[in-house]
Amino acid sequence: MKKHLVIVGAGHAHLTILKNLQEFKNADHDVTVVSSSSLHYYSGMGPGMLSGIYRPEEIRFNVEKMSQDRGATFIEDKVIKINAPDKTIDLQSGRTLSYDAISINTGSYVPVAASDAANGMIVKVKPIENLLNAKRQIAALLKEKELKLAVVGGGPTGVEVAGNLDRLVDDEAGKCRITLVAGSRLLQDFKAGVRRRVMRSLLRRKVEVIEDTRMSAIGDRFVTLTDGRKIESDMIFMAVGVRPSPLFADSGLTTGPDGGMLVNKYLQAVSYPEIFGGGDCISFEPKPLAKVGVYAVRQNPILLNNLQCFLKGAPLEPFIPQKAVLLAFNMGDGTAVVQWHSLVWGGRLGFALKNYIDKTFMKNFQVSGELTTGT
Ligand SMILES: Cc1cc2nc3c(=O)[nH]c(=O)nc-3n(C[C@H](O)[C@H](O)[C@H](O)COP(=O)(O)OP(=O)(O)OC[C@H]3O[C@@H](n4cnc5c(N)ncnc54)[C@H](O)[C@@H]3O)c2cc1C
Repeated sequence: MKKHLVIVGAGHAHLTILKNLQEFKNADHDVTVVSSSSLHYYSGMGPGMLSGIYRPEEIRFNVEKMSQDRGATFIEDKVIKINAPDKTIDLQSGRTLSYDAISINTGSYVPVAASDAANGMIVKVKPIENLLNAKRQIAALLKEKELKLAVVGGGPTGVEVAGNLDRLVDDEAGKCRITLVAGSRLLQDFKAGVRRRVMRSLLRRKVEVIEDTRMSAIGDRFVTLTDGRKIESDMIFMAVGVRPSPLFADSGLTTGPDGGMLVNKYLQAVSYPEIFGGGDCISFEPKPLAKVGVYAVRQNPILLNNLQCFLKGAPLEPFIPQKAVLLAFNMGDGTAVVQWHSLVWGGRLGFALKNYIDKTFMKNFQVSGELTTGT
């Protein structure tokens, strides 16, 4: 029987579904993809785009064309509410869509106080488009003056952003002082070898790293720290971690401790079997998962399979998270620091590995002429 499948959010966790949408059409189902943007940027290469290592078209997917080429309807819009008992969703534009099955991948956002959100100096590191806009602004400003940039957050994203800002400034032949406010210790959840290598790389390039001190407030061209210091900043990159999309709490769905949609081992909402989800927006009931793209990517084939099985009434497959995740931090200077199990190494070979993994991923999903048409 013909069913209507709705795919919400064309992010990292939905790319395999998008690439295989034709299979749903072949089974005589209608598919609608709703996403807030017609282009999706791959976050793993985002800091590299900030520095200019990658061109924007090298790191993005034309998800609108990808959907339409495979027979789906694409709607560029935002879902603002899921009315689960009625099997409908409300869009920002005022439209309402009904579904028989739905998969949700609305990602996460950087929490910034409402009072700071309108501050034009603040760059939230997500969505990745923000980094592209910042790069253009910085390149223009460097022609006029010496800049002061602050990066708030001492996790992997803050580290990569700081390292790649340094590369951008160098390549633009500009002058800049970069300060990274780590909050706690830099990369405090990582192995000592990773921390040492990253710290060495940043200090060698005169990035000031402030540890064990948090940002307490944002003023006009400065940030204040908890120890009372004021750091002058023309632009402030907020890399303070992410929270799952607020859509689920707003819709009255069952959420996990982090506010993500609570899903069982089949990536299926605990109270509504026709709702599936993956990536940063879910809270995985069997075990909390870090908000990293690696899990979103691994959930792709499970989501594809389980939606197909659900629509034909077949048994579902569980998602089993991998135990160890390869981590590679692009330091912006042609090197990366890599952690794999207990092994830590770095240098140009590390970057070559990261670059190879990232480019292989892009090649697999850039199926809509992104590189040739420049979309
Ligand atoms: C700068 C940076 C670098 C990173 N580097 C790495 C890395 O190297 N390795 C790694 O594992 N992780 C990395 N991460 C983490 C990684 O980005 C996330 O874990 C990953 O993006 C999660 O993917 P997702 O599919 O859940 O969401 P996303 O890929 O963010 O996709 C969300 C999608 O939903 C759409 N959307 C959002 N809200 C709505 C709505 N209401 N209605 C409709 N559509 C909506 C968006 O337009 C987008 O298409 C990085 C993060 C950042 C910020």
